[in-house]
Amino acid sequence: MSVAIVIATIGRPSLTRLLIALAASDGPRPDALVLVDDRRRPQAELVDRLGLPGWTAELLQVRRSGGRGPAAARNVGWRSVDTDWVVFLDDDVRVTPLWLGQLAADLQVLDPDVAASQGRISVPRPPRRRPTDWERGTAGLETASWITADIAYRRAVLRELHGFDERFRRAYREDADLALRALAAGYRLTVGQRRTIHPVRPAPWWASIAQQRGNADDALMRALHGAAWHRRVGAVVGRRPRHLATTAAGLAAVVGAVTRRRRLTAWAAASWIAATAEFTRARIAPGPRSADELARMLATSAVIPPVASWHWLDGLRRYRRSRPWPATDGPVDAVLVDRDGTIVRDVPYNGEPALVEPMPGARAALDRLRAAGIRVGVITNQSGIARGQLTMPQVTAVNARVDELLGPFADWQVCPHGPDDGCSCRKPRPGMVVAAARALGVDVRRCLVVGDTGADVAAARAAGADAVLVPNDATRREEIAAAPRVFRGLTEAVDALLRRAGARR
Ligand SMILES: [Mg+2]
Repeated sequence: MSVAIVIATIGRPSLTRLLIALAASDGPRPDALVLVDDRRRPQAELVDRLGLPGWTAELLQVRRSGGRGPAAARNVGWRSVDTDWVVFLDDDVRVTPLWLGQLAADLQVLDPDVAASQGRISVPRPPRRRPTDWERGTAGLETASWITADIAYRRAVLRELHGFDERFRRAYREDADLALRALAAGYRLTVGQRRTIHPVRPAPWWASIAQQRGNADDALMRALHGAAWHRRVGAVVGRRPRHLATTAAGLAAVVGAVTRRRRLTAWAAASWIAATAEFTRARIAPGPRSADELARMLATSAVIPPVASWHWLDGLRRYRRSRPWPATDGPVDAVLVDRDGTIVRDVPYNGEPALVEPMPGARAALDRLRAAGIRVGVITNQSGIARGQLTMPQVTAVNARVDELLGPFADWQVCPHGPDDGCSCRKPRPGMVVAAARALGVDVRRCLVVGDTGADVAAARAAGADAVLVPNDATRREEIAAAPRVFRGLTEAVDALLRRAGARR
């Protein structure tokens, strides 16, 4: 049984403490330790390797995920390893001295239908005083189900489920979403015996307001898993229904005042005051009576209900059509496919139409797209022209053969330049994606690029289009790790796209 530890991080100081605690923990060492640096523009090394004790420095791999959030960062991490198990740890937890041994014991006993094993989280409480609102919130992690603070997943299951849903951009609900998809696929999830400590992080005083963005993620969960998703992961709805009512009363009071309806204004204002007072009291009652905490509760309790309501309603609107991962989100009007290695076998600098050989299933997959009313174009780098290995007429002849075997394609974009020409069309630059969208008369944000390299994905991202990767034997491992969605071939990618489109009709 092989195990990798994956830690998605933005380089908080707690990370070094965690690595030191891991090195000091007793038990079998993992086979890999992957740090995924999710800082947008890293200015410095994540950790000082020389300062790391024990095996942690020697096993350490560092990957980058470019600030796409913890879900995307963890996907980069697990796709970088090929162990049987992948343990996700948050960068602000601390493992106990027996953790590695307990982890091995936890994983050894699991039946094949168990997808994941969660650690037991403890949140230290402040000594000699009652916990603040923020501390009580963190303590909720102790009873939360399937959170990534410490959870081990079978890598095969992560592969089958395409990992974490990258539409979750914060460290919130992406773990419950993955658990629900694992349960839906027929797996079980268990809680192990290992213990992990999750200290309370210091937080700015408005943290409780910023946290209300989680309501939008709840709206995404509702769109993906139905209104009853809370019950299936043991989460609580909390005060959202009351926040909506409080906000409605506040709005009614404003409307009443503006339209000079005194009875409405008085009634609505009284309701709003009563609801806000009740909420404030409920937050103050279990906490410490310090001036700081009281000021914080008074200042934020009137703001939280409208902010929570706004994020919830905005999330409902934004995610109303979202389908479970790995379906793409927005509607797709055009699919732009890469040529070499994606729809036909890659024959380097091919100028010979007779050598064109479609990839398995390509013809049927492309026909299904066209039958579904989706426009299909081709975007292809042909640097052989700039290198003098090929002529444009040869490329045109090869393209004509591709069109004959797999077409008709609604648009062709060919970049004849080399890497050093500084053109704007050569992938990973966005030029061909933008030009194809324009030629097809579709919004570039409603285009999906399908390719076999990181340059295809990068060109799509730079243009504002969506992308999926269909790797082949030549696709580099880092490119697979960094891709937003990976499918085993065109057929599987088109299945996912059309399943989504079909579900919407
Ligand atoms: Mg290619």
